[in-house]
Amino acid sequence: MNSFDFYNPTHIAFGEGKIADLNKLVPAEARVLVLFGGESARRTGTLDEVTTALGERQVTLFGGIEPNPSFETLMEAVAQVREQGVDYLLAVGGGSVIDGTKFVAAASVFEGDEWEILTQGGRNIERALPFGSVLTLPATGSEMNKGAVVTRKSLKAKLPFHSNHVFPAFSILDPTKTYTLPLRQVGNGVVDAFVHVVEQYLTYPAQAPVQDRFAEGLLQTLVEIGPQTLAEPENYQVRASMMWTATLALNGLIGSGVPQDWATHMLGHELTALHNLDHAQTLAIVLPAMLRERKAAKLDKLVQYGERVWNIRDGSAEDKAEAAIAKTEAFFESLGVKTRLSDYDLGEQHIEPLIASLESHGMVKLGEHGDVTPEVCRRVLQASL
Ligand code: NAP
Ligand code: FE
Repeated sequence: MNSFDFYNPTHIAFGEGKIADLNKLVPAEARVLVLFGGESARRTGTLDEVTTALGERQVTLFGGIEPNPSFETLMEAVAQVREQGVDYLLAVGGGSVIDGTKFVAAASVFEGDEWEILTQGGRNIERALPFGSVLTLPATGSEMNKGAVVTRKSLKAKLPFHSNHVFPAFSILDPTKTYTLPLRQVGNGVVDAFVHVVEQYLTYPAQAPVQDRFAEGLLQTLVEIGPQTLAEPENYQVRASMMWTATLALNGLIGSGVPQDWATHMLGHELTALHNLDHAQTLAIVLPAMLRERKAAKLDKLVQYGERVWNIRDGSAEDKAEAAIAKTEAFFESLGVKTRLSDYDLGEQHIEPLIASLESHGMVKLGEHGDVTPEVCRRVLQASL
């Protein structure tokens, strides 16, 4: 196991009816800005429930944070925070709203050009406004981590940042709030959580058996409950498992002390920035081809993954690795998330602009060995046509 710092201060309030706890979790004197996405929070009644729970506090609203939140929209929220003297933020939504709120929390008190928060990956964040979240879409883990991804539409750039200053103070996870999700978002959520685990597990052996088994437990759980959570939207126990699994997939725990990959996510971000695909759609396209391309370097872990997660017993190491990748691909398809570029009308002609964009963002040495170069990414995209 490698040395590590594990720090996670986010308080989780989990279960049906927990939105009422906002009254305890948000300071009584707070001047609160509630941030949300399009219409779902209002339509489903969650927004009303939230404002009721906030009681007598001064509350203003900021709606319109889009999927893959944009710098442009978020800077409007920053202006509102500064004008109104807001001192506490509350995100109500999925990963996009929570990521966007992290950016607003840091940018509102940032001195200098706020875009540099993204170009510096968050290293220049010295403080942020406190904030909490009410999660409505299990997928990203943003509700219990210190990362966020923001898109600058004018530059077609989707960049991540990280900072200990942007952990949510608390997140409320009420599984009943997911009942209204469109199936497309449910499938996306399973895929995103699955790939988060894979990026922290499917690297090379690091003598971290408990981390491996945490990761395998999360993957097995997703394989088991993925189809159920699609088939039975109002099955509380299944939705509860889905919600907690997605949170645990990216809250820092399983990534502690082990190598991490993230090449699939970084290449996926380019696909979203240029072609507006859903985050999870990009992962389902990139991951199978990325694993095949790097089969030799990942062979030991691919075999372990195949045996322990997919129960693959027969054949050579190479056979088991290939079978494990094929199972992964079929799993994504079974969740309704397509795995080829051509499924989204993208072809050979779209590859070079994607590689150029990757290079322009300095993403030239990706993966756990830093050997996933633009040339490797080009082959991955060609294999996923
Ligand atoms: P999302 O973009 O937050 O939401 C997708 C859609 O789901 C929205 O159209 C939203 O509608 C709808 N929705 C949300 N909750 C709903 C509900 N309860 N009922 C009905 N509709 C609902 O999706 P996401 O997958 O959670 O977030 C994706 C973003 O997170 C991407 O930008 C991705 O790069 C990022 N991400 C972050 C991390 C991290 O660690 N921070 C990790 C992975 C990915 P409305 O807009 O109408 O509300
Ligand atoms: Fe993700």
